Amino acid sequence: MESATPVIVAIDGPAGTGKSSTSKAVAAQLGLSYLDTGAQYRAITWWMVNNGIDVDDPSAVAAAAGKPEIVSGTDPEGPTITVDGVDVSGPIRTQEVSSKVSAVSAVPEVRARITELQRSIAASAASGIVVEGRDIGTTVLPDADLKIFLTASPEARAARRSGELKGADVHSTREALIKRDEADSSRKTSPLAKADDAVEVDTTELTLAQVIECVVTLVEEKRAGK
Ligand code: C5P
Repeated sequence: MESATPVIVAIDGPAGTGKSSTSKAVAAQLGLSYLDTGAQYRAITWWMVNNGIDVDDPSAVAAAAGKPEIVSGTDPEGPTITVDGVDVSGPIRTQEVSSKVSAVSAVPEVRARITELQRSIAASAASGIVVEGRDIGTTVLPDADLKIFLTASPEARAARRSGELKGADVHSTREALIKRDEADSSRKTSPLAKADDAVEVDTTELTLAQVIECVVTLVEEKRAGK
């Protein structure tokens, strides 16, 4: 698709709805950049854990929030994430980071820092960008051209996530996901929420290819001015 105007696509939703796979594929198909904002929150959490910061102490987390330098590579074919120059793409996916990221990302100073980073990355994406997260349509990029909110049943989400974690127990994965959703949805600062003008797509009964096709069509319609 050729277009001179950069297009900004916000894709939000809870874990296990296919957000990352969908966002990367849509960006690759349409020649757009891609930003995984969950990876940024995971990266700052990884840094806190590695630097002995008590993640359950919001004032300690707030005081350290400005210290790590987080850099995201936005090529959808090979997104990267570094903290102070160290590749953390593997370590940010551990159970330890997953279980601590909601506490760190609820701290307003962390959100302010990461939100600023996200806005500057989106503003510098020449042909446009797909940004995935929890608060992109509501808070980070409220003027996005297209906002998508992906949902799926807890069972479908747990099954997908435990598949990604190479056979992790579905029951405990489901419990961990529900706990993280509750924390992300109930925090005071920019919780996980659907923007009023977002298109909701329930992915429970859809294949990944169908979800990608649906979102690509929505972007193309937007670009055609429908
Ligand atoms: O998307 P992912 O599951 O990797 O996100 C990890 C965590 O990062 C979420 O559970 C949430 O606590 C936080 N997050 C956030 N806001 C975003 C993206 C992720 O608070 N925009």
